[in-house]
Amino acid sequence: MAPKIGILALQGDWARHGERLRELGVNSVEVTDPKDLIDIDGLIIPGGESTTISRLIVSCGLEDPLSKMLRNDMPVLGTCAGLILLASKVLDGRDDQLKFGVIDAVVKRNGFGRQVDSFEEMLEIETVGPDLFPGVFIRAPFVDGIGPNTQVLATTATGVPVVLRQGSALGCAFHPELTGDLRIHQLFLSIVKSANNTVLPFSKS
Ligand code: GLN
Repeated sequence: MAPKIGILALQGDWARHGERLRELGVNSVEVTDPKDLIDIDGLIIPGGESTTISRLIVSCGLEDPLSKMLRNDMPVLGTCAGLILLASKVLDGRDDQLKFGVIDAVVKRNGFGRQVDSFEEMLEIETVGPDLFPGVFIRAPFVDGIGPNTQVLATTATGVPVVLRQGSALGCAFHPELTGDLRIHQLFLSIVKSANNTVLPFSKS
């Protein structure tokens, strides 16, 4: 059976993730309320503004259920602001900004510069195949350090980590949903699939 993927749809670039999943034949549900989390097999936290998404998670009552599901290893893909929310430490965040901490990484929210400093770089991501992946970086988080259990799946040419994995959590500093290249979403779906073969449904625990 195809997995059911939740996409956190509070702010930012969530709609494009839904389009990418549809291209892969996978249905998604927009998550704006705790009841939307029932029976999802995985979650995408999109790019946007991490401070705003954080505030909305709290005001929509999603902080506790999301923390619990993520602590229970629910597969999650965080892109750009999504990666910031998954990280364990944010150097230039707001004091009250949520840090789910499922990826042991220190990030600088706008460490690559401002909107005008946006750039594209072709990335080597061995895990998704030999062809280079188009990385679209928009006010991207700069990963300044990682923990011993965090895997770096790709770096920029200058050696900055830009794709991180820790268990069932996958984080990208760039926006894979803005390109026609579906391989990051495919990688995420393969994580969802293997988690479903081994773990009980997350929302029931
Ligand atoms: N730097 C932004 C933040 O702090 C993220 C930018 C993005 O998601 N494109 O949330």
